Amino acid sequence: SEKHKRQESTELREEWTLLLWTTVAFLVPVLITLWCSFQRPKRKVQLKDLFRKSKHGWHYTDLFNKPTYCCVCSQPILQGAFCDCCGICADEECIQRADRILSCKEIMTQSQTDGRFYHQWVRGNVPLASYCAECKQQCGNQPKLCDYRCVWCQTTVHDDCLSSLNDDLCDLGEFRSVIIPPHYLYQVNKLRRRHPDEYSKLAAVCGSGWTPVLLLANTRSGNNMGEVLLGEFRTLLNPVQVFDLSELPPSKALQLCTLLPPGSVRVLVCGGDGTVGWVLDAIDTMKLKGQDQFIPLVTILPLGTGNDLSNSLGWGAGYAGEISVEQVLRNVLEAEVVQMDRWKVQVVSKGNYFRKPKVLSMNNYFSVGPDALMALNFHAHREKTPSFFSSRIINKAVYFFYGTKDCLVQECKDLDKRIEVNILICLQRQVIQRKSVF
Ligand SMILES: [Zn+2]
Ligand SMILES: [Zn+2]
Ligand SMILES: [Zn+2]
Ligand SMILES: [Zn+2]
Repeated sequence: SEKHKRQESTELREEWTLLLWTTVAFLVPVLITLWCSFQRPKRKVQLKDLFRKSKHGWHYTDLFNKPTYCCVCSQPILQGAFCDCCGICADEECIQRADRILSCKEIMTQSQTDGRFYHQWVRGNVPLASYCAECKQQCGNQPKLCDYRCVWCQTTVHDDCLSSLNDDLCDLGEFRSVIIPPHYLYQVNKLRRRHPDEYSKLAAVCGSGWTPVLLLANTRSGNNMGEVLLGEFRTLLNPVQVFDLSELPPSKALQLCTLLPPGSVRVLVCGGDGTVGWVLDAIDTMKLKGQDQFIPLVTILPLGTGNDLSNSLGWGAGYAGEISVEQVLRNVLEAEVVQMDRWKVQVVSKGNYFRKPKVLSMNNYFSVGPDALMALNFHAHREKTPSFFSSRIINKAVYFFYGTKDCLVQECKDLDKRIEVNILICLQRQVIQRKSVF
């Protein structure tokens, strides 16, 4: 019986061991998963914090859309962060180091004492199909971190050709006539007396025919295209002249015009008719502030669904990347200038004489009734849930929904008996650009 007891206790111990191991085998993966899911947001927060404080314009991506190499460790990477101003890329482990050791495109710097401006090279990840300025052969076609690109003039050059490149002066490249050079802003900032005449004197170094373009993009109109454009224009221009209207209203963005020579500035508005109207209203307030001389020319790059104004000026019904942003800039430079009537609409309440008339501004047309209600519903809905409206097809479906809903509910029934349209007062003429090549 002694032997029997011992055998029993051994069996019991074995059962306990089995139970213990089963528990461990079950708990370990669960704990690891839990730990990871706690760490992930923590890392995301850390990254977000780093991005916010950084001088670079970092963006995180889960998958780069072309072969990419980390600028710090030179390894090929699939995911990580890139700066849309200077184009450096880094994997998650290297981001902090990249942020510390690599400098970004400076928006405002002193030029050398002799007034010259030198190339600012970034190594690796040069655009596909780019050519070396020295030997004219294709650049960046080796599967490693190689070759250089100047962040200002976009010149590319081989590793081996850089030392023999005899011109190290940067002329800002093809788009020098629209880029605000960092040394111009440095000089303006140093001026003791901020006066338009002084600006024109400083602008002499930017060359004749310098017409800086400010880019105002609405990231809420159409297919995420706004985001893409912001990045591409930050790469091409001085990041200071590129504005995200979801972060800064046009009235603030347009204040940059008051630091540039009067009559030279163009504003390229990326968005729908609503966005263009928003910018034109901001220009009206510049007039009220006595900043008439700084009023810019307006050009449109249509995004999203409602683009009648853009269409009537020859800029098309919607841009979805059909032509490169470089071509967009060339079109802007070639465009002709036309005058456009803008109107003031007064909405007076008929029965109620004590209610103040509501004053609105109007660009190409205004509408009353079912289609206006549809557009208003659509707008209100989009303001509430902007993420839902990222695709053109969904937008059209929502329009269709409100259209059919109104046919059934008939909120606008007998509208013609209830309202009376009187007169419109011409508010002013705004100079706007029309596309010259049709
Ligand atoms: Zn790395
Ligand atoms: Zn950068
Ligand atoms: Zn350069
Ligand atoms: Zn070369």
